[in-house]
Amino acid sequence: MILEPAQNLNVVDEADVVVVGGGPAGVSAAISAKRNGAKKVILLERYGYLGGMATGGIVVLIPHLSTGPQIEQAGMVMEWLDRLAKKPGGVIGTNKRDVGSNNPELIESWRNYFSLVWANVICYGAYADPEMLKIVLNEMVEEAGVDVYLHSWGCRALVEEGTVKGVVFESKEGRQVILGKIVIDCTGDGDIFASAGADFDLDPDKSIRNGMMALVYRIGNVDFETFAKYKAENPKEWGKNVEKLQEIAGFKSLPFPTPRNDVMWVNNWIPNRDCLKVKDLTKVEFEVRRTVLDVIEYLKKEVPGFNKDSFLHDTAPQVGTRGSRRVKGMYKVLYDDIKQLKKHSDVISAVPAIDLSVSKAAAHIPYRALVPKKINNLLVAGRSFSSDVEANNWTNLIPHCITMGEAAGAAAVLALDSNVQPRDIDVKVLQGMLKKQGVYLP
Ligand SMILES: Cc1cc2nc3c(=O)[nH]c(=O)nc-3n(C[C@H](O)[C@H](O)[C@H](O)COP(=O)(O)OP(=O)(O)OC[C@H]3O[C@@H](n4cnc5c(N)ncnc54)[C@H](O)[C@@H]3O)c2cc1C
Repeated sequence: MILEPAQNLNVVDEADVVVVGGGPAGVSAAISAKRNGAKKVILLERYGYLGGMATGGIVVLIPHLSTGPQIEQAGMVMEWLDRLAKKPGGVIGTNKRDVGSNNPELIESWRNYFSLVWANVICYGAYADPEMLKIVLNEMVEEAGVDVYLHSWGCRALVEEGTVKGVVFESKEGRQVILGKIVIDCTGDGDIFASAGADFDLDPDKSIRNGMMALVYRIGNVDFETFAKYKAENPKEWGKNVEKLQEIAGFKSLPFPTPRNDVMWVNNWIPNRDCLKVKDLTKVEFEVRRTVLDVIEYLKKEVPGFNKDSFLHDTAPQVGTRGSRRVKGMYKVLYDDIKQLKKHSDVISAVPAIDLSVSKAAAHIPYRALVPKKINNLLVAGRSFSSDVEANNWTNLIPHCITMGEAAGAAAVLALDSNVQPRDIDVKVLQGMLKKQGVYLP
């Protein structure tokens, strides 16, 4: 062990609300706080762009915004999609007016796009271009007036007697401090609440989606329509190819569409890796790149839609983490809650039914799941919200994290305006604020 010498840290800035992590939750929290009247909001992000997994992770699919005819994930995610639609090649997805339709022609036209047809009805969802999304998110934070610090790694919370006062962050300029009246942890890994001493769960289930890591990549010069037709007409043969791809890669790997017919993204699921351990993060980066060219070679030779000129377009700059620390909040969302459709009077997000064998209507995410049990001036939004591991598996997708972020940002402003702790705000007022900004609440 080595004792690092103590040093004086410069306080470089201060704000009403400091959001750490610029992914779907963090961007939404910062914009929501600013739009709801916070004088100054700072958003800190360790990389050089915003969007988290939705951009840097090349997670292209924004799924399941509706159950039946009702769009339940509304608010800022709709703004993302509307703005993306104005960018070249920004997005492809179902039309709002068609949601809930069982028109056979429509169903047929979207059937190849996973998640856009569900239980034989049109579901609201989209495939977004990560580069266009980076531009859209920059525009949104700039228009809202959020102060953004990129290339700034949030190291720890500054805490005095159980109350968060700001964050210490590391950058090319060394270690510095930003003071904040309320800090919102949107790091996805709970880096800030863990350092603040908030209790959390960390019990990855290796058998489910959010227990697996990934390094997504894209393949260019393909023909998605040909691939989709082949898959639909030859399910048995495709099944064998899926097994072969798993054998070559060493883990499950599946191609999905993007907004462009000539580019596909390959999602993958790598078990037994700990996203909080540097050695495991490094292993994932190496494991995927070790076999990616062999996977592509196989696709080129054996699978229609890929051809001799198909190529590795890019690998994600950001390793894929589906689940990590989850804060112990004032309420923990349980898998049983989702199955039994438990209703909460402090609902801030309605998560559409994803698998009809699990539930038939939206799951409620209560505001209390964003509020750590102990520690003052701190909120949590995004995939590390208070939940058991299986509930989290169903409710930590991009749109869900966006609505949680919107709620946390608005709640921070309400707490400051009311001079109370986030756990003591008037939730009815918060819900009114959310409805005003277009969030659907059941
Ligand atoms: C491979 C994969 C496939 C997926 N598929 C889908 C899908 O098809 N559809 C879907 O909706 N969801 C999918 N998900 C889930 C979804 O992408 C995430 O759950 C969602 O992005 C979480 O949003 P978030 O804002 O909580 O966290 P993240 O997206 O992880 O964003 C966290 C942000 O915080 C930053 N950060 C982290 N630590 C620090 C720090 N200490 N200081 C400063 N910044 C920090 C990160 O760089 C990042 O920008 C998938 C996830 C993965 C990994």
